[in-house]
Amino acid sequence: MEMPEQPRSRRQTRAAILTHLLQSGGSFRPPLAKAVRLSEASLSRILFDLKAEGLIEEVRRPAPYVGGPTGLVSLDGTVALGALELTGQWLSVGVGGLSGELRYTERVPLPKKPTVESVGRVFREALTLLRDWTQRRHIRLSQVGITVPGLGRLSVSGNPIIPCDVERIGGMFGEIFPGVPVAFINSVVAHATFHRCRSDSYPFSDPHLFVFVGQGVAGAWVDDPIEDDALDPVELGHMVFGTDGPRCRCGHHGCVEAYTSLPALAELLRTTEAELLQLGPDWVTAIPLSSRVRQELRQRLFRLGLAIGNTLNVKPCRGVVVSGWPSLLAEDDRKAIVDGIDACLLGGRKHAQVSLAFVPPSNGNDPQAALAFAAFCLARSGGMPAASTEAA
Ligand SMILES: [Zn+2]
Repeated sequence: MEMPEQPRSRRQTRAAILTHLLQSGGSFRPPLAKAVRLSEASLSRILFDLKAEGLIEEVRRPAPYVGGPTGLVSLDGTVALGALELTGQWLSVGVGGLSGELRYTERVPLPKKPTVESVGRVFREALTLLRDWTQRRHIRLSQVGITVPGLGRLSVSGNPIIPCDVERIGGMFGEIFPGVPVAFINSVVAHATFHRCRSDSYPFSDPHLFVFVGQGVAGAWVDDPIEDDALDPVELGHMVFGTDGPRCRCGHHGCVEAYTSLPALAELLRTTEAELLQLGPDWVTAIPLSSRVRQELRQRLFRLGLAIGNTLNVKPCRGVVVSGWPSLLAEDDRKAIVDGIDACLLGGRKHAQVSLAFVPPSNGNDPQAALAFAAFCLARSGGMPAASTEAA
């Protein structure tokens, strides 16, 4: 289908090209022109600029269709991005490229009971490591992405999950890395970006809800990367299912997170979160489930389904992606989530035409999500970032 060419700014057109290359991992010129709705001549002019600026590279390759050979366009492998990912145990710091390869990583441990001050000190230490590593190699970072659990519009200065003053850290960053663009983002939103940019078979390209079940439970609305609100956190993990339920790290009782997060799962399985993380996907086979535990697990997943269904009642959309430990379960066990969605979605799941897909968990791969987010920010700015601190 031919789409009329919308008037777009230079930045928007460049952003459309770069985000397409980020999500596709590379493209020949003709399909790229089609995907970003440009004539091959216009595309040619912009690619010339992007190449001169070191943002893309092109290899002559025989094309898999008539008319080849042509150039296979991809993001330039030499662009350096910074990534910082805050988790419950440490702050991960790294340097990597647009396609996700990491050249440097380090972890700075967090204290057992973190405070705004001690988390600030951990960030200073990580930023100093990052500065030393890049300076020794004369590397200039094009963009830095920082992920913070629980970060939302209301929690920029008062994070209820990990005490962390984003404004103060932004100031510290500006001191240590003057002129380098940095963006902060909610961890879950960064994981959504990671899956969308880094997996070949990501299930949706239309707007959808991404749900992450890890140390916490949260979601993100994922829209066209060019839109201003392309990525928006949604706190569905703190939907309360009974005020006499288990205590949640947000301070309330009976949140869906308190039933279905990785720490809650560990407790149910009489193990620890650390051991689950160490086992990785193998915990499903390594830890036998009694029928009582399996029953309880399904009840909890049913609640997760209710939380997802309620979220869709508030803002309808056709696709849901679940990432995290439930993705590792057998279809029979996962079905409890579908039943939960069905039980509360107005008109039921079939009527609402909601499709559900599971993608593997991506926790424990830090700072990959922060790196994917940095790549996303650079692509979305069209490679013309305004040097400033912004909370996305
Ligand atoms: Zn909560």
